[in-house]
Amino acid sequence: MLLRRVIEHVRIRNALLLLWALSGAALAAICPANAEPVSSDALPQEILDVCDARAMPFGGYEPAIAAAAADLIAMGVFTSEEFSNVKIGFCGLRDAQGPAATASCARDSILLDIGYAAKDQNLVRNATLAHEMKHYLQHSERKAEFGQDYCSSDQYAADKTWMEEEADAFGDDVAALFFTGRMVEIKNECPVAASVYLEADRPMPAIGDSASFIEVAPHATVVLDGRATSNLFRIYAETTPSHGQKRIWGGAGASDTRVIDGKVYGLKRITLSSASRSAGPFEMRLSCQPDEAAPETRE
Ligand SMILES: [Zn+2]
Repeated sequence: MLLRRVIEHVRIRNALLLLWALSGAALAAICPANAEPVSSDALPQEILDVCDARAMPFGGYEPAIAAAAADLIAMGVFTSEEFSNVKIGFCGLRDAQGPAATASCARDSILLDIGYAAKDQNLVRNATLAHEMKHYLQHSERKAEFGQDYCSSDQYAADKTWMEEEADAFGDDVAALFFTGRMVEIKNECPVAASVYLEADRPMPAIGDSASFIEVAPHATVVLDGRATSNLFRIYAETTPSHGQKRIWGGAGASDTRVIDGKVYGLKRITLSSASRSAGPFEMRLSCQPDEAAPETRE
């Protein structure tokens, strides 16, 4: 198991390295973020002021930033609530000899170099924004612990090295998630078997190639073959008891229908949680607890 994980990790890293090697611009873009911490403190205040004025609140992000935030939310890396407190904008940081991107501890704002606005920068932009959002979370936690003066404290200066290492690893892991997709896991918590059809909104190859049911034994967990890059799914599932009540997860009268084994099924739209921000599968949990919402039941 451990060996498999190590092999998979190496495979992902190699694939990412290959991808970046193929894209000189992308490689150049990601390196500054991964190199030793470059501080925006070195930038002239007037440039920071101009840049900060271009940082917009959630809802007002420039399209490329809004797309990156939407990708990260869909991947289950951050919630929209977390973005709602952060102003983000593009700025000519590198032209001013600054870093590729920076997160302000005191102002809860993130600046990305204007080079990340290009269309071919999607993956690197997502990874870089994830790196800077990690700094936002780090700053928020430390401010809650040490107070608002934290950002000008010696403690913050001392924390910068581990914060940078943590954000680098986090950004790498998120890049890998976008490159490979997140695994998808179905947990059947019912005492009876269930037949499940699960369709990803944004599948990586192998999910949704053909419409067929997956049989999940009682209290078993099944990992699907394919992966996905969004937490939005459509599902039809039903338990298969030998007698008594059958539980159904589906959409009665839904506009989304699929023909599976010659029969039409209505699908229910669902949003899955993920095991953790930067790793692990999307999780579909089938619960037969009486107090938990089962959309329909029938005899
Ligand atoms: Zn950083």
